[in-house]
Amino acid sequence: MQRSALFDQLRATDVYDLAIIGGGATGLGVALDAASRGYKVVLLEAHDFAKGTSSRATKLVHGGVRYLAQGNLSLVREALHERAVLLNNAPHIAQPLAFVMPSYKWWETAFYGIGLKLYDLLAGKSAIGSTQFLNKQEVLDRLPQVQSTGLRGGVQYWDGQFDDARLALEIARTAQKKGALVLNYCSVESLFHQHHKLSGLKCKDTETGSVFDINAKCVINATGVWVDGIRAMDAESSGEKIETMVTPSQGVHLVVDRSFLSKDFALLVPSTQDGRVLFAVPWLGKVILGTTDTPRNDLPIEPMAFSQEVDFILQESSRYLSKAPTRADVRSVWVGLRPLVKPQKTTSGNTKGLSREHTILVSESGLVTVTGGKWTTYRAMAEDVLQQCLNAGLITKSDKPPTTADCPLVGAPRSKERYVSIPLTHQQGAHSYGTEQSLLSTLPGCETWLCEGLSEAMVRFAVRYEYARTVEDVLARRSRLLFLDAQSALDLSDKVATILLSEEIHNPQLQQFKKLAMSYLLTSQE
Ligand SMILES: Cc1cc2nc3c(=O)[nH]c(=O)nc-3n(C[C@H](O)[C@H](O)[C@H](O)COP(=O)(O)OP(=O)(O)OC[C@H]3O[C@@H](n4cnc5c(N)ncnc54)[C@H](O)[C@@H]3O)c2cc1C
Repeated sequence: MQRSALFDQLRATDVYDLAIIGGGATGLGVALDAASRGYKVVLLEAHDFAKGTSSRATKLVHGGVRYLAQGNLSLVREALHERAVLLNNAPHIAQPLAFVMPSYKWWETAFYGIGLKLYDLLAGKSAIGSTQFLNKQEVLDRLPQVQSTGLRGGVQYWDGQFDDARLALEIARTAQKKGALVLNYCSVESLFHQHHKLSGLKCKDTETGSVFDINAKCVINATGVWVDGIRAMDAESSGEKIETMVTPSQGVHLVVDRSFLSKDFALLVPSTQDGRVLFAVPWLGKVILGTTDTPRNDLPIEPMAFSQEVDFILQESSRYLSKAPTRADVRSVWVGLRPLVKPQKTTSGNTKGLSREHTILVSESGLVTVTGGKWTTYRAMAEDVLQQCLNAGLITKSDKPPTTADCPLVGAPRSKERYVSIPLTHQQGAHSYGTEQSLLSTLPGCETWLCEGLSEAMVRFAVRYEYARTVEDVLARRSRLLFLDAQSALDLSDKVATILLSEEIHNPQLQQFKKLAMSYLLTSQE
């Protein structure tokens, strides 16, 4: 994959049907849907794909037990359907996982168990396993490290887990196979209008500084918590001021070793001392503890945890785990920003309500903004976006129907029958590439291991097929080492940089990565 060839392709198209700003779950989902319907699509991402919120999720493919408690049944039903679709389309990186809720109060097993039986019912044909009532021993068999004092029993239910950043890459590559042009390190700098209607945008290759004008019938703003910046660019042409739609809130995750949760079962605490949900999830050979929900006023691309958030996660975890994790046990800490959407008033009346906790807003000039929602429902959100573009007359109907519900992503096997996947609770490895393992094994260095789970060939694969441009791209989002063990990622960075140089990446940004990796160590977060 030659980056210069991608820019030649960008120059070669006069007018795109859709130009999508933002290469997270939302933008990539729209790119895949639109390309599969035959539209001419370009997607521009300012940093790397999934550099924003989309690599910082709790990694759950879920219907949302929380929404069940709120009585939002249609939302849960739809998410459960999407859960099944995702597990089907990407079984190498999205799989079912059993969750256990331990009960310490007499009423908890019955109360949560009945709710989760309803969860199974709502899933209908999309169910992936049945809720089970557990006695004390059955809970301890699944979660040997759970606090046994006062334990009465529990409930086991099923949801899914996934590798968020790798899923984003597989969606990008599938969209590319279907004809979309997707570019990372290409930021949108301004929008242009004709007769008060949005007609295109100016973007910049952040590696070379080259600037490109792109004409598009429809521009999609899928920039997550950053949508208001693009909306302000749109409003500039008419001299209007926008009413901001996003209030950011951050969620922190801490990563500890598997010794804190050794079996392939996740722990769910349905109500922490301040009424939140807390997860301990085995993932890629480590355990993720999280998360928090803390409002903030700024929008940094690399948010840092607040000390009290770290204390909260450690304290709550130690109430449920017999061996309490301490700061010294934390291998990595990462933070994601949720785009919480305020209710909107628009002059055009062209709003879409909060049908699935995401919002789509079409401005007077025709800018389509989509934000909110969750990773699990990215595909359904994309369908909604396309429908809104059609309703607003920004694009004409395509002859091809949407096909993303049954669209195996790159790396997914065509037939499930002979496919044996290694669980996502296990360390990354060649199996993480699904059907592309054979391609991976043809690259130089497939037997040269930089650490367990990361070979020289995987670094080369990242550059040649997965759009990687820097050490960070490789160690944060192709391999997930930065998110799993920041010190190990730091220790490997020189070797990765050397391989990138040999792949003709002239500036792999090694020093920038070292600085970043230091900030994922808990000691530098305070
Ligand atoms: C803590 C936390 C935990 C979560 N856990 C889960 C979970 O377990 N399961 C689940 O289903 N969902 C989960 N979610 C929700 C899910 O992660 C988000 O809904 C999803 O990632 C949002 O994707 P997005 O594409 O809208 O935003 P982002 O991923 O943030 O993408 C927006 C992109 O736009 C780019 N951009 C910004 N400005 C420009 C510009 N000018 N030009 C070009 N590009 C630009 C950014 O660089 C960024 O990459 C979680 C969210 C949080 C915060």
